[in-house]
Amino acid sequence: MEILVIFSLVLGILLINRPVTLLFQRLYTKHQFKRFVSSETFYHSVVSRHFRYYNRLGLQDQRKFLFRTFLFQHSKNFHYIEVEQTAEMPILVSAAAVQLTFGLEKFKLNYFDDIFILRDDYHYGFYSRPFMGHVDQTGIYLSWDNFIRGISGETANCNVGLHEMAHALAYVNFVTQTEEDKHFKKEFPNFSKVARPIFTSMQQAGAKNLLGDYAATNYHEFWAVAVEVFFESSVHFRHELPELYEAMSCVLNQDPLSCLTGNTVIILRPETLAPKAVTEAHAPAAI
Ligand SMILES: [Zn+2]
Repeated sequence: MEILVIFSLVLGILLINRPVTLLFQRLYTKHQFKRFVSSETFYHSVVSRHFRYYNRLGLQDQRKFLFRTFLFQHSKNFHYIEVEQTAEMPILVSAAAVQLTFGLEKFKLNYFDDIFILRDDYHYGFYSRPFMGHVDQTGIYLSWDNFIRGISGETANCNVGLHEMAHALAYVNFVTQTEEDKHFKKEFPNFSKVARPIFTSMQQAGAKNLLGDYAATNYHEFWAVAVEVFFESSVHFRHELPELYEAMSCVLNQDPLSCLTGNTVIILRPETLAPKAVTEAHAPAAI
């Protein structure tokens, strides 16, 4: 009899666990959305000044982009090293992560609680060359002057924000497995089927392409550089490496060039735009 009671209790807990979790998520999202609305105009002014990507989105996606930026920012602790903190900094860094993951469901890069913003190039570990940014188990590190140059388009093919977020995305999906995105994980082997031979030809035969020599350092760098070039030089990328462009578009579930055909919605998968039952009437269709 006791076993039956215990079994029933365990079964009951298991059955109500998911609905209760979903309920809490809905309440949390609703609460956060109320907070977000009061600062939405400020977020828009900051992001629209720096992100061409954001300015190409339709209104509904712009709101989704800003709300995700708000949620990402408030899930992290930002640390400022030898650089004067401004209100824009955490918003712009969060927006870089949101741009990368905009076609995916999971976007918070959970595992990384801390983001460190440094003034400019820095030395790390035993490496002799200076770093513009890096990711390790302690957090995501970015140098502010390089970050700003990257999002302003001053440096061709170089966007350290997207580069480090690309490392972080791979890290949470494949190393810590703390925030696995189903679509990303399912598609990554297909990406690698196209990417690996290109990487190998660069590393072993010295093949040259628009990704540059640094992409041949190792496969992690190849991935991060390919992400930068995918967003920063989309037309050139699609022209020179069309299969890799297509594979990147699939794994990230977005195509930065779709706006050139007059389509402002750059997400590929229609279901990501479907309204979520969890959000209130005024919340964005999907976050
Ligand atoms: Zn890197």
